Amino acid sequence: MLGSIEAGGTKFVCAIGTEEGEILDRITIPTRTPNETIPEVIQFFRKEKISALGIGSFGPIDVKKESPTYGNILNTPKLAWQNYPFLETMQNALQVPIGFTTDVNAAALGEYVFGAAKNLQSCLYITIGTGIGAGAVFQGELLEGLSHPEMGHIIVRKHPDDSFEGVCPYHHDCLEGLASGPAIEKRWGKKGAELSDVKKVWELEAYYIAQALVQYIMILMPEKIIIGGGVSNQTSIFPLIHQQVKELLNGYFTPPLLNDNIVDYIVKPGLNGDAGIIGGLVLAKRELEN
Ligand code: ADP
Ligand code: ZN
Repeated sequence: MLGSIEAGGTKFVCAIGTEEGEILDRITIPTRTPNETIPEVIQFFRKEKISALGIGSFGPIDVKKESPTYGNILNTPKLAWQNYPFLETMQNALQVPIGFTTDVNAAALGEYVFGAAKNLQSCLYITIGTGIGAGAVFQGELLEGLSHPEMGHIIVRKHPDDSFEGVCPYHHDCLEGLASGPAIEKRWGKKGAELSDVKKVWELEAYYIAQALVQYIMILMPEKIIIGGGVSNQTSIFPLIHQQVKELLNGYFTPPLLNDNIVDYIVKPGLNGDAGIIGGLVLAKRELEN
């Protein structure tokens, strides 16, 4: 039996499952302070007797195994979690091998092994929710260097009619600053879910997301791009993104997936909302094998 945690800014999803990616039990715990949330998480896994755990966490986090602060949450705006030794706490409590990465890396891994990118050699998963983040898998390995990538904070070309200043506390009008759920809400004065029938909202959203995807394509050339997160529930955005990505690429590349078949290239998750939690099971399995 394997354990998985998808640690988000609003909730922790904890699950027990198999190495085939089957979820057998799960609970959702609200993200309060570590002292309130973590004991409940530990209690859940103690009663289930797991042999390994995989954690996909909100970040930024320290993912470098050789670092003295490996497994810690770093300078998050959620102050109670700043410098929290997440991995060490779980290791001390559970005494099992634990894999640790970002929430989007875990989701990318889940989609790579069991979801929309099954049988491919690479994929990129992007979430558009409270924040924007992306993870990529190439030949089965998560893309990480000096740290994990922060693909939500890239700089995009501002739309000439968009005077919104952006919501990113670090960069103001980076991709996350202009196109995350909170950016949509602040720019238009309503939550995204209440703006379904306002076409210009989703055209502008697609304008920014398409730019980001084109940059990911140019730099990484993944075999599939998967878009998840709350804002992607707005399904009318997919055709707009397909169209704008094709326009930006402008026929530079010849593969059909980047042209007429782009609907098969930029897709919804194959695992629905479970990509992250199933990816955690994959991480756990890998940690056990190591
Ligand atoms: P989180 O990023 O916190 O894990 P979500 O992925 O659910 O959670 O993203 C939450 C964000 O998505 C909020 O800003 C919310 O307004 C937005 N959102 C949720 N549902 C929709 C929807 N149907 N259409 C547009 N935006 C949505
Ligand atoms: Zn930013």
